[in-house]
Amino acid sequence: MFIGIDDTDSADGMCTTYLGAVLAGKLKESGARIRRAYLIRLNPTVPYKTRGNAAVCIEADGCADEIFAITCALIEQYAVLGDEKTNPGVVITGKRGPAEWYKRCLTGYVTIDEVYSVIQREGMIFRGWKNCRGLIGACAAVSAVLADCTYELIAYRQEERFGNPRNVTASSVFSAEAATYPATWDSVDHENQVVVCVPHTPDPVLFGIRGESPFSVARATGLIACEPTGMRQIWCTNQGTDAHLIIQKPGQPLTEGSSYLLPGTVNSYPKSGRGGHVTFSLLLAVYPQERKEESITCIAFEPTRGFRNIIRSLHPGDRILVAGSFLKETINLEKIALVLPAPAVRTEAPVCPACNKQMTSAGTGKGYKCRRCRYRTRDPVIKEEKRQITPGWYEVPPIARRHLARPLIRGSPSVPGEFLSSETS
Ligand code: ATP
Repeated sequence: MFIGIDDTDSADGMCTTYLGAVLAGKLKESGARIRRAYLIRLNPTVPYKTRGNAAVCIEADGCADEIFAITCALIEQYAVLGDEKTNPGVVITGKRGPAEWYKRCLTGYVTIDEVYSVIQREGMIFRGWKNCRGLIGACAAVSAVLADCTYELIAYRQEERFGNPRNVTASSVFSAEAATYPATWDSVDHENQVVVCVPHTPDPVLFGIRGESPFSVARATGLIACEPTGMRQIWCTNQGTDAHLIIQKPGQPLTEGSSYLLPGTVNSYPKSGRGGHVTFSLLLAVYPQERKEESITCIAFEPTRGFRNIIRSLHPGDRILVAGSFLKETINLEKIALVLPAPAVRTEAPVCPACNKQMTSAGTGKGYKCRRCRYRTRDPVIKEEKRQITPGWYEVPPIARRHLARPLIRGSPSVPGEFLSSETS
């Protein structure tokens, strides 16, 4: 059976994955068999999330009523019920829920009324606390079918250490990644020289190692020097898979709060704005057959650091693909591909053929004139510039990566053929 849990933590402590790991341990003690533990990330733009919008699902064999009683008791014991934003939900079901529900929770916004009708239709056992919003994620976690998956080994802290500064030797994390990359990734950020896998929030997680298989994450963990750990749990997860991205069809309107992979043409020189964010305008081919077009703003936020230099090197006319969330009429960039660079040319005043002197502008739209002999011409000299960026994919660094975003080391997004055809620009 599948046990889904969500919305048990608060910004001041706890973590739903911790509760999931405690549950897996308790179920084992009670004689149940654990088949798999899933960490399912949902729409990264939902306003109710505490941090990374995660829900968990434990797949186990055992008595449903007994498992339900154990799970509810753990929620009562561990969930931060005093926090007004903590609204836990638990569902238990003998078969996976509807994949369509998972997809909607991953790519859009849903309501509490809607989850009740799914739960009732599917005959799931459930319990919600307070406004019961956690039922949404709990039901999505038991409905998730992962076309692609990765693994994360989360090492939790011993309870008596909760709230104290974490003790993890940074150099050992760099070595662990060096020894296991590319089978593990995003433990560290080389460009910014920081450890990424150790949180700074007051929750029970000591570190989380992400990778391609349970073996690679376990191997990297064995190389990390740190304080004595409590539980460890390997989660099968949709992290690092781009599962949140909708491949935008031309003509399909963009929905606020959804995340997209879409083609377009750079429509303005990128500008650095207040706070270090970099923006540019992207021309979308809305109805290519009718040659109708629409522009949206794309933004690379300051925390994306060096990625902003990639964005700054774009030119008007560049054909690109962008991936990111659509919020407030703006795409928040996670990665881009330069598909077809615009020819980079600059115009210069020509040299006078009679005097061999550089000519000067004769006024806007009037060409050039020679100050000496008054010779005139309309034609500038066209010089080709070397571009700072070459065709290919570019992504934000690990410190700015969304949990769901697929690192390019796992392969670049598969792009529909029509995204690369001339029809899209
Ligand atoms: P944690 O660190 O425990 O994972 P979190 O960042 O996952 O915290 P939650 O405390 O779980 O955040 O809050 C997210 C809330 O949003 C949950 O109640 C979940 O059921 C709900 N939710 C998740 N996805 C959607 C969605 N697509 N539409 C509406 N509500 C959603």
